Amino acid sequence: MTAQRDYAALVERGLKLDLTRGKPSPRQLDLSNDMLRLPTSYRAADGTDGRNYGNLQGLPELRELFAPLVQVPADQLVVGGNASLALMHDTIVHALLTPLPGAARRWVEEPKVTFLCPVPGYDRHFTICERFGITMVPVPMDAHGPDMDVVERLVASDAGVKGMWCVPKYSNPSGIVYSDETVRRLATMPAAAPDFRIFWDNAYAVHHLTDTPAELADVLALSAAQGNADRVFVYASTSKVTLAGAGVSFFGSSPANVEWFLRNTAKQSIGPDKLNQLRHVEFLRDGAGVAAHMRRHAELIGPKFELVDKILTEQLGGLATWTSPKGGYFISLEVPHAAEVVARAKAAGIALTPAGATHPYGDDPADRTIRIAPTYPELDELEQAINGLAVCVRLVAEERG
Ligand code: PMP
Repeated sequence: MTAQRDYAALVERGLKLDLTRGKPSPRQLDLSNDMLRLPTSYRAADGTDGRNYGNLQGLPELRELFAPLVQVPADQLVVGGNASLALMHDTIVHALLTPLPGAARRWVEEPKVTFLCPVPGYDRHFTICERFGITMVPVPMDAHGPDMDVVERLVASDAGVKGMWCVPKYSNPSGIVYSDETVRRLATMPAAAPDFRIFWDNAYAVHHLTDTPAELADVLALSAAQGNADRVFVYASTSKVTLAGAGVSFFGSSPANVEWFLRNTAKQSIGPDKLNQLRHVEFLRDGAGVAAHMRRHAELIGPKFELVDKILTEQLGGLATWTSPKGGYFISLEVPHAAEVVARAKAAGIALTPAGATHPYGDDPADRTIRIAPTYPELDELEQAINGLAVCVRLVAEERG
């Protein structure tokens, strides 16, 4: 009965709160306001005129700055526009239309193209697959990453398995970091398809919430050492380092894959926005500059993650489980009847990412996972939203018994 009374009071308040997307808050964006006055010079280190066409791969000084952070040698790194998602999308388009190194044919000529999708995962990865009719096979994850027994079996036995999505560090939405053993097995496992590729979306490579950053094994180096040099496509961006709408993105891979990628990209563009690349180099300077900047982000969003954890602990102990990430942008909440909880929250003015969005085709068979994105709202709004969400979980638990 208490939950019903609390829920009625919640609806009465007429809240209008949004926890749907992992966006940086305005105060986080303010951290990069000095960029709006950069670059002070349009000349790159080698004299390139940043205002003009050219340099498809991106300026060497920016590639060198980010190479160690994303674990890709600078000469195997490509700088893209403001969205790494566009790089992922376009890599798949290229693979559909132009054979990958080692491929027998283009993916459009394959009877069926399948991607493995560790769950819970990132809904926009799944949307790309849906757009191109790529069959998605969910693979369960635990605290160390995807279930590697399942992955190894599927990748070794089915030449139609061409891809696998991975968010290896501070994963979206669970926040887990792939263990060294998981990364080693991904790099070394036999694959039936010579054009099998791991889409290594390292979106949260430097997005630590604590002073003890998680270490991730170097998947590109491990794959190359095992004779699987072409296996991995690495992606990253500064969307959540500098400006979400005006950052730079990165694609990294083997020399053969980079050549293939640039050959295809050359049909799309005569060169990227090098002024934005110069702006990033001037603003971030070096690895220490990036680390200092990310600490300022952590100071702003760390308390938000702590608040969510505190409220859930106080209100939902025994009724739900959730993750306590050491980095990234999300918390994954596991509750019975997730879809109903989300619907109840919506009716009370609290917008959450749709239940099921963390799974391919929007289908979470256990109906358990809710993605919480705590970064955008300020603390008082976040407190109201999570308290409200907790009421909804208790209500559904009470009603369903
Ligand atoms: N990958 C993951 C795992 C993400 O969580 C996000 C942002 N939510 C993106 C990619 C999007 O990155 P970008 O802004 O570079 O397109």
